[in-house]
Amino acid sequence: MPEKDSLHTFFEPDSVAIVGASTKPGKVGHDILRNMVTGGFQGEVYPVNPHAEEILGKKCYPRVTAIEGSVDLAVIVVPAAAVLSVMQDCGEKGIGTAIVISAGFKEAGPEGLERERELGKLARELGIRVVGPNCLGVMSTSTGLNATFAAGMPKRGNVSLMSQSGALATAIIDWSIQQGVGYSKFVSFGNGVDVGVVDLLRAWEDDEETKVIVAYIEGLPNGAEFMQVAQRVSEKKPIIVVKSGGTQAGARAVSSHTGSLAGSEQAYDAAFTQSGVIRAHSVEELFDLAVAFAYQGPPRGRSVGIVTNAGGPGIMATDAVERDGLRLASLDQETIRALREKLPEAANFYNPVDVLGDAEADRYTYAAEHLLRDGNVDSVVAVLTPQAMTHPKETAEGLASVAVQSDKPVLACFMGGNAMDGALQVLNERRIPVYPYPERAVHSLARMAEYREWLNEPADEYIRVVPYTQGVDGVFEAARAEGRVDLGEIEAREVLKAYGVRIPESYVARSAEEAAEHAEKIGFPVVMKIISPDILHKSDIGGVRVGIRDRQEAVDAYELMMLRVQRYVPDAVLRGVCVQELIQTGREVIVGSTRDPQFGPLVMFGLGGIYVEVLKDVSFRVAPLGKRHARRMIDEIRSAALLRGARGEKPSDIDAIVDTLLVVSQLVTDFPEIVEMDINPLKVGGIGEGAVAVDARITITEEEHAAGG
Ligand code: ADP
Ligand code: MG
Repeated sequence: MPEKDSLHTFFEPDSVAIVGASTKPGKVGHDILRNMVTGGFQGEVYPVNPHAEEILGKKCYPRVTAIEGSVDLAVIVVPAAAVLSVMQDCGEKGIGTAIVISAGFKEAGPEGLERERELGKLARELGIRVVGPNCLGVMSTSTGLNATFAAGMPKRGNVSLMSQSGALATAIIDWSIQQGVGYSKFVSFGNGVDVGVVDLLRAWEDDEETKVIVAYIEGLPNGAEFMQVAQRVSEKKPIIVVKSGGTQAGARAVSSHTGSLAGSEQAYDAAFTQSGVIRAHSVEELFDLAVAFAYQGPPRGRSVGIVTNAGGPGIMATDAVERDGLRLASLDQETIRALREKLPEAANFYNPVDVLGDAEADRYTYAAEHLLRDGNVDSVVAVLTPQAMTHPKETAEGLASVAVQSDKPVLACFMGGNAMDGALQVLNERRIPVYPYPERAVHSLARMAEYREWLNEPADEYIRVVPYTQGVDGVFEAARAEGRVDLGEIEAREVLKAYGVRIPESYVARSAEEAAEHAEKIGFPVVMKIISPDILHKSDIGGVRVGIRDRQEAVDAYELMMLRVQRYVPDAVLRGVCVQELIQTGREVIVGSTRDPQFGPLVMFGLGGIYVEVLKDVSFRVAPLGKRHARRMIDEIRSAALLRGARGEKPSDIDAIVDTLLVVSQLVTDFPEIVEMDINPLKVGGIGEGAVAVDARITITEEEHAAGG
């Protein structure tokens, strides 16, 4: 037996007290007691209510302390104002776990928030683990425990569900009962004063009854801890999450491109991707995936075989396969020969295999069986529409019997209404996920394939790219000493240099004559840029000249730039001009970072230049990241093909971008005081030519942080 986790008492208590049990049907305190009494729970159930003798045939106690026997779990349904004193009683009685159903806490304004704080504090003092408050409760189908006020309980199965929303949980349970989806455990944790997402992930990590973890969340209190635990658990079983709405915490002014492009949704997406969590974008998708993962194992590859009794739906499935990044398997000669042998001449023997509308169950099953045997096929999607000769129920039985003999997943799409009822029941009982539309079957399969690939990947190693961090502190201190937190190109370049990023040769000039000398030293052509702590977007005000070809042009450019800037930004403090080596060739990309309130530093990548904020073609990861994710970030943007050299373009030095992403990841991890930064542009040369940070900007916090994250 695996060691029991600290939450197991919530699911398998020997005795339960319902504090606030009511005599009146329809009241929450009555419905919970009824569910506990009639749900098949084998342990002791004690109603607690000082004003009743007996409820539903059970002796009633005035307080939990009056119960003679021991009590493992208290379900608290009293008004909010009485919850704390009930908790005191529970402590006295030695109860270690409590479900607080009562509302009137943090969701109910300042007074409720204060009450919730006290509840949390008291629970810690008394050593009581708490689910809730403001929740629907807990179910466990294996022990028949139904400590909720929901009507009915889903059948036994191996999906475990946690939900932050009680209302949604009610709908989910209702729907699951109707669809026949089987559950192991269910927790509505409401406000989550104690038990939350991470605790439940830990509790279900090694739970043999839980094969798939499903979660509905609105936010996470501790992003870093979630990622760490979720990644570990994902290696053992799939975690499917719907994350809805939620507010963007602490909107603040953003000074960088990265800051304006990164929202909390990008942060969640990145965190889920990095920890193997499968994100569903609707409750419908959540169920589609839960059923797929609960009933079938993920496919070992992306090649799909399709069997259908109708051309149109077969094509729809085929289109979906391509759209979702799966492949239509090219069938083995042996399979085609076998199909030719038994199928009518008008049938299609190639993928998608069309057994025709007049196919009875045996012909359909025969085709499915041969697809499953084919070494080129990793999974089968079985499409059926009700036609004159179709026997949906027999076909479902035939399909299920060949599916169990194969280790490849089979997903069904049986289209049609009442005609399919019997078939759906068979498929559900025999653990073949079935969907009303081909797209949903195929999409679920695609997500399973992705998960399998994630499992097969070696862990992404986080390696230090450079040891050197001194010098950076000095730059930050100097800026702060002047009362600034926005570091322009000159200072940001110092920081990047300390981290080994290539930067163009540059010198500061304070006169036209000096500018010309520097330009000669560098060698023409050169670039000239204004230096001012008050100007962050230099080219907007004519503060950048690219391609200065000789001494005279350098002198003229200096004078003109000074004149222009003084005209456009008369109050700006000017520190001279930066004369810079012109980086002739290369593609402009942006590498940046911003800090997310939940997950900490995010690293961003995109094609650079002026359109980055319009096109929003960027990708994110949570730092620190390893090589594999850095590479993945580059592949993820829509215009990645350009960098790889599509349409006769010269391929770019992807390795140099990867290195820069890793450096930025390390820099923002080492220095928590970096709020935002971007290198825009990073000019990336051809393969082997490297990349140069041509411009950069960093925003730091006002206070100093200890370096070394
Ligand atoms: P800002 O973003 O503040 O307007 P940049 O330093 O990014 O100023 O310069 C604007 C543009 O000029 C860059 O996007 C790049 O296209 C070009 N540029 C700037 N510096 C160089 C350089 N050293 N070599 C080549 N091109 C440069
Ligand atoms: Mg720039």
